Amino acid sequence: MEPYRDYDRLRAMMVRDQMRDVTDPAVLAAMARVPRHLFVPPHLEARAYEDRPLEIGWGQTISQPYIVAYMIQAARLRPGDKVLEVGTGSGYQAAVLAEMGCRVFTVEIIPELFETAARNLERAGCLDRVRMKLGDGRKGWPEEAPFDAILVAAAPEEVPPALEGQLAPGGRLVVPVGGGPSQVLLLVEREDGEFRRTRLLPVRFVPLLGEDSSSPPFRSGPLSPSGGSP
Ligand code: SAH
Repeated sequence: MEPYRDYDRLRAMMVRDQMRDVTDPAVLAAMARVPRHLFVPPHLEARAYEDRPLEIGWGQTISQPYIVAYMIQAARLRPGDKVLEVGTGSGYQAAVLAEMGCRVFTVEIIPELFETAARNLERAGCLDRVRMKLGDGRKGWPEEAPFDAILVAAAPEEVPPALEGQLAPGGRLVVPVGGGPSQVLLLVEREDGEFRRTRLLPVRFVPLLGEDSSSPPFRSGPLSPSGGSP
């Protein structure tokens, strides 16, 4: 039999111990509510509240809890804000955004992860507050633009111009930029037709994928409980 695990307690400890410089009460409250263990593969459920990213298959990861919270705080979200997420992955960050009261639009490029995320969001009771799309998020979601905020969960070499263009006046784009291990998380703010860039912190994300040859192909196949990605 599965041992009983007190996920509510683990989640409270996550919010108490791992949030570092994230202090926005609305972000912390949302992190305390979303059941992160419903967004990881079943064999990793017991590790869902650890201070690290976890593999979700197809060479992708669910981001570390702190990074999810940090990006959301950096985007200075208010209830009712229209938010685009590029890289749905497990659906976890989308669920936290929904819990913040945002109108969430999320784009995922890997069909299997798109399906899993929909199931995860359904189980967590968030699916009705999240609009999902399968496709290349580097193009944004033109039909729904402009957005008050855009969060990118994988790293492009440069800020995708289409995403800047889909920011509302006063809008915030949070995006990890750079190839290889030396990425930086950028905040891009649209003010009076100008884009102001602020470097936030060094990070390590999976690369943003695309149809062109400059992006590495994604690993095909699900994550196996024994092996998995290196
Ligand atoms: N926010 C996610 C983290 C996902 S990791 C979570 O909370 O779990 C990054 C995700 O971006 C992966 O699922 C990957 O498949 C996706 N991705 C990579 N390139 C993409 C692109 N061009 N468009 C949309 N999604 C992309």
